[in-house]
Amino acid sequence: MVVAVTALPGMAQQRDLYAIGEPVQPMPVDPAIVHALQQVSAKRIHQTIEKLVSFHTRSTLSMDVKDLPPGEGIKPAIAWVTAQFEAYSKACGGCLEVKHASYTQMPGKTGYLKRIPGPTVITDTYAILRGTDPAEANRIILVTGHLDSRNSNNFDGRGAAPGANDDGSGTAVSLECARVLSKLRFPATLVFVAEDGEEQGLFGSKHLAEVAKQEGWDIEAVLNNDIVGGDTTPGDKLQDHRVVRVFSEPVPADATPQQVRELLMLGYGSDSPSREEARAVTEVARSYAKAYGPDGFVHPVLEFRLDRFLRGGDHYSFNQEGFPAIRFTEWRENFHHQHQNVRVVDGVQYGDLPQFVDFHYVAKVARINGTTMASLATAPPPPVDVKIVVSKLDNNSTLEWKNGPGAPTDTHYIVVWRPTAAPDWTRQIDAAQLAHVHDGAYEKNADGSYVVTVPVSKDNVIFGVEAVGAHGQRSTAVVPMPTR
Ligand SMILES: [Zn+2]
Repeated sequence: MVVAVTALPGMAQQRDLYAIGEPVQPMPVDPAIVHALQQVSAKRIHQTIEKLVSFHTRSTLSMDVKDLPPGEGIKPAIAWVTAQFEAYSKACGGCLEVKHASYTQMPGKTGYLKRIPGPTVITDTYAILRGTDPAEANRIILVTGHLDSRNSNNFDGRGAAPGANDDGSGTAVSLECARVLSKLRFPATLVFVAEDGEEQGLFGSKHLAEVAKQEGWDIEAVLNNDIVGGDTTPGDKLQDHRVVRVFSEPVPADATPQQVRELLMLGYGSDSPSREEARAVTEVARSYAKAYGPDGFVHPVLEFRLDRFLRGGDHYSFNQEGFPAIRFTEWRENFHHQHQNVRVVDGVQYGDLPQFVDFHYVAKVARINGTTMASLATAPPPPVDVKIVVSKLDNNSTLEWKNGPGAPTDTHYIVVWRPTAAPDWTRQIDAAQLAHVHDGAYEKNADGSYVVTVPVSKDNVIFGVEAVGAHGQRSTAVVPMPTR
């Protein structure tokens, strides 16, 4: 098609990357998803966090303190979380499978093992909402928070460690997502997790990620929430309750040095599957933010690093096993209210207390988590074997891909792209507009792969391919690897 160009020479619209397609568009809002996530309750989150704090300490090491008063320690906390999941399951006709992943961690002399004084039982608690489509049920999306807490002394299994924000808030997000999303059914599987052993060195999440690997879970996304309480220290004018930070690794943690070199050479230093997951969160926010009213949602701020300086989180354990995983954290942390004994010094209150948690903010964070989970679980699986043909010098870009396992027959695809220096996707085009279409189907290669040619130079942009379902929900994007 020839387009008359009336803009002045040098105008950006003349460049190939703007001459075709359109700016990235929001997804259609799925009313069932919005209705479910509107049920997220700040009041319930408040009750959950107060209940978690009432266990006095949830230190992983409290498991082995023999003379704790009844009702104190991680053990009754695990029992209570388990009972919550079971109650949600009862309310949905037994729709949740409530499970524990438990093992005994032995001490050691190196690294985090030094934080394990003796054989220590570590128990993750989780609930599975199994996908309704047998072809898609092995597609799994997790939301995680860690149940365990600590105070100034990581070896103290007895003293107060309220952990209201770190990570009562993240645990509350997992529970609240389980409660409201268990009222819906999805073709793919959702898992709601309360991890143990995080403060000792990510032990619970490492164990669960290994279980997932051994059992062959096809994990599409892990949404880890750690310190999402929106600290409310009086007088802190730099906190921002309109936003949440989303951390993601730049290149996959399990890539070999040679693979990392190749990724960097291709300009894929910011396109790990975890980072595409983070971009999917911004796509969800762009599409759904207004549906929850003026103050019902948070705006995600992409942080292009694995985590904050000197800190780690449970998403990393999943990254290590090759799974996409991101971390949500409040905009501005107050370090007097994390990993601190409860005390007052010179009039300053230390300790991770509920009085510094904004429960309405936690509810907004739960909504962006739940909406992302529901949208991804409604969308088809992302495409696989996504390739970009580099057999000859060409200002056009030919892309190929295949259906993800279990993709419904009505799956179609959108090609997205962005300038190499842009943080997020800027343009899109429906692949059907580029493909040779006949009888309503793409023309395919003999091996069943889709082929399209985009009149945009691959040298100036990064492409991604997203799968789209009949309802318009979109999978995470997959970037193409070169093929000849
Ligand atoms: Zn934490």
